[in-house]
Amino acid sequence: MSAPQHDGAGVPVWEDEIRTTGPEGTQAAAERIGRQLAAGDLILLTGELGAGKTTFTQGLGRGLGVRPGIISPTFVLVRIHPSLSDGPDLVHVDAYRLASSGEIDDIDLENTMDSSVTVVEWGRGLVEHLAESRLEITLIRPTGADAAHLPDAGGLTFDFDDDPDEERVIRLAAYGPRWEQTDLRPAGPAEGTAPKET
Ligand code: ADP
Ligand code: MG
Repeated sequence: MSAPQHDGAGVPVWEDEIRTTGPEGTQAAAERIGRQLAAGDLILLTGELGAGKTTFTQGLGRGLGVRPGIISPTFVLVRIHPSLSDGPDLVHVDAYRLASSGEIDDIDLENTMDSSVTVVEWGRGLVEHLAESRLEITLIRPTGADAAHLPDAGGLTFDFDDDPDEERVIRLAAYGPRWEQTDLRPAGPAEGTAPKET
């Protein structure tokens, strides 16, 4: 192995799961998370197209208090949303078209990292080396038969792609020392899946 392994590489410090209904629900959850973020934080967003990664980022931006207007950056690799106060900026990256972590290094996120919260859609496997710690967020869109079994479905499910009020499962996995002390960490021993220091 040539690259040094960061502490944050392997086992999450904690994990959590949130369920939301509709884009507003996802944004509200993300807004609460955004309020706990600080300059230097690295967030990886995973989930299929339409899962809600960009919708989630809009809520994060609200919680951070950055300039609104967050859209899918699919055709623009990086967008910077400046803070409206003295908080961190939001650097929003879509890595979908990037094939290697070398290409990520070319866009020089390290430059803005220290003064910003960096959110990378499709970042898994590409950007972990940028920081010692990271928060991985996975958005899952239950579809078809699965969706019909959710308690909120009320026995009636429409499977239109543009259903405005779908349910999402949002999984959080925090890696590295940054996340040991945070209000985002779920309380109670039952939630702690990571072993204590050995
Ligand atoms: P991605 O960035 O993962 O491709 P987007 O955020 O661009 O996804 O799109 C998500 C779509 O799903 C939006 O049209 C949004 O309105 C819709 N949607 C419906 N329910 C939800 C929900 N609970 N959370 C997030 N988005 C939702
Ligand atoms: Mg997107």
